[in-house]
Amino acid sequence: MKLRPGLQAQLVAVILAATLITLTVIVLIVQRQGAMRQEMLDHSRQSMHALVHKRLAQQGRATAERVAESLVNPLYYFDLEGIGRVIATLQRQPDVAYVIVYSPEGDILHDGSHDILTYGQTMDDRFARRAMAATAPLVQSDERTLDVAAPIRLGDQPLGGLRIGYSLENVGADESAANAGLARALEAIGARHRQWIALLLAGLVLLGVALSLLVQRALVRPIRQLADAARQIEAGNFAAEVPHSRRQDEVGDLMRAFGRMGESVLRHDRDVRRMAYTDALTGLSNRLAFREVLDQRLIESRGAAQRLALLFADIDDFKRINDTLGHDAGDEVLVQFSERIRGVVERESGGATLSRFGGDEFVILLEARDGGEDLRESAGLLAGRLVDELSRPIAVRDRQVFLGISVGITLFPDDANGATMLMKNGDIAMYQAKVAGKNCYRFYSRAMDQAVERRVRIEQDLRGAWERGELSLLYQPVYDIGAHRLVGAEALLRWQHPRQGMVAPSVFIDVAEQSGLIETLGPQVLRAACADAVRWSRACPTAAGAPPFLSVNVSPRQLRNADLAGQVEEILGETGLAPTQLHLELTETAVIGDELRVSSLLARLRERGIKIWLDDFGTGFSGLSHLRRVPIDGVKIDRSFIADILRDPDDLALASAIVAMAHSLGMTVVAEGVEQAGQFELLRERGCDYAQGYWLGRPMKLEELIALTAPGDPPAV
Ligand code: C2E
Ligand code: MG
Ligand code: MG
Repeated sequence: MKLRPGLQAQLVAVILAATLITLTVIVLIVQRQGAMRQEMLDHSRQSMHALVHKRLAQQGRATAERVAESLVNPLYYFDLEGIGRVIATLQRQPDVAYVIVYSPEGDILHDGSHDILTYGQTMDDRFARRAMAATAPLVQSDERTLDVAAPIRLGDQPLGGLRIGYSLENVGADESAANAGLARALEAIGARHRQWIALLLAGLVLLGVALSLLVQRALVRPIRQLADAARQIEAGNFAAEVPHSRRQDEVGDLMRAFGRMGESVLRHDRDVRRMAYTDALTGLSNRLAFREVLDQRLIESRGAAQRLALLFADIDDFKRINDTLGHDAGDEVLVQFSERIRGVVERESGGATLSRFGGDEFVILLEARDGGEDLRESAGLLAGRLVDELSRPIAVRDRQVFLGISVGITLFPDDANGATMLMKNGDIAMYQAKVAGKNCYRFYSRAMDQAVERRVRIEQDLRGAWERGELSLLYQPVYDIGAHRLVGAEALLRWQHPRQGMVAPSVFIDVAEQSGLIETLGPQVLRAACADAVRWSRACPTAAGAPPFLSVNVSPRQLRNADLAGQVEEILGETGLAPTQLHLELTETAVIGDELRVSSLLARLRERGIKIWLDDFGTGFSGLSHLRRVPIDGVKIDRSFIADILRDPDDLALASAIVAMAHSLGMTVVAEGVEQAGQFELLRERGCDYAQGYWLGRPMKLEELIALTAPGDPPAV
């Protein structure tokens, strides 16, 4: 861990430094004080010494002068006894060490002793003689003695001299005692000062500690708490506890401001999350939210034997709503749909997570409630309910819209154990439900992967197949049953795959439809078929009856997306085919649900003389009554109804009913898949108009068709 100088550490360091500096200053002051005291002591000793000496000298001089006066007479008369008396008086004074009276030559006349032992001795120092010459007493001193010498005169006549020696021992002792007292007093003062300084220092340290504690409490702790909270918020924990404070100072303000900021960040985070996780249109959770929930469930499932089911639901042909009724209506449909899905999910499985994946795709996450054995069953049940509920018509802008839903179901951990794979599987299963005819549900199976792969490959190979000449048209003759005459043909697309050989239209047409390739392929087929039709009618101009027609299949997508009427007109113009010779075959699913738009489109085509047939009739859900609203010229009964009319009376009844009802609506009826003469006869009996099937002619090349209808060569019926 990297140590860093915190606020408190910095403060402690500053206080320590300040204390150290103060200590140094104090030590220096104390040292200086000691030196000063010593100097003061020396100085006062010297001053005292000088003062004492000066006083002593003055006193000595005065005494010497006075005694010298009183010695004039005894000396004049050389009265040694009198001199002795004077000296004795003087000698009784304290500190007088000696008293000597001497002659002008410096010889001792009296020393105060009874026998005057030193009498006549000559004083060898020059001090006594100098005093003789002086007018006032002279003073000299050494450490031990103060020597005062005064002349004794009678007028101008020198009679001798007086020399008094004062002992300085007592004075020195007094001086020392006084100095010692002074030193003691100074020492006491110094000690008091030191005490004060120590007290001051202790106070300073206490102040430092108190300051440090105050800083810790008032600044460091709240700042650390704020820093901790900030770190947590930075790490994404927006709900982190932000410290509160009732303090009225700036730190209190800061903490409150920080608290408010934390709350605001939390609020914003919630808003952002809500926006990021919710689908704005339906209010459901969105793909992102779903993915998080799924990931969470998958993590939770690791320990427990949790099982999950994912239901991918996609509205069938939703694009048609947007294209025909506009996007606002599309949104309305989505909202209604999501409400219905929500209702079903809540009723069937309360705890399931529902979200909109964008567009017309909804995903439901179902969890096994207990045991989990029935998860597959309950997922299937829920999907079935969804399909049922959503196939009911929806009212949008005073219109009934028929939509459906295709649901793909994938199970965890059966199908995959990762979120990405599960979602891919769900998508595949949903796609398979679409392929299986929509409005149903499918469970994912491994075989679907291959099917999807196959479809993807077909789609890739199909791109550009027309340009590469792999696609061609065959024509299957259509006969007038009553007249036993060939009246037209249906154009059927064939794909000669370079490696796989012939690919059935039931396989690739579906891929082209799903992938949108049909939108380019369709017009190409139409153009080629029209051109062939022109060639066909030129090769066999029929004298009697109308020229043969050519019937072209149009896929639902072509009907919805492209400008079909415009395309047809353009192609007719290009090829020169008479509109009456063109028939278009539509499937029921392309027509129902959007009758209004389709009707106007078909009306426009019919105005030009083009005939519209409804292909594979009977396989869809709509009855004939339903078709009354759509302007069509005829229906082609699906071959599944024709196949059994000889054996199954129900099929025959159905075919007969279709013929009767279609005729009552003024429509032509074509029977598909006639494979036997018996079927043909039966259909003729029932009044069916046209027939088409292997028994009459398989799909063939244009040349064969031309040969079949060559003039003079009556059809082989
Ligand atoms: P469809 O329009 O119902 O075409 C009739 C289908 O029945 C053709 O299959 C034809 O070969 C077959 N068929 C005719 N007579 C008999 C018979 O007696 N017995 C049996 N078992 N079958 C018979 P094909 O050619 O495989 O076409 C399948 C479907 O592919 C067509 O059904 C049509 O919906 C679609 N299709 C074919 N060509 C095109 C095209 O150019 N454009 C579009 N959009 N769809 C096409
Ligand atoms: Mg057809
Ligand atoms: Mg058909």
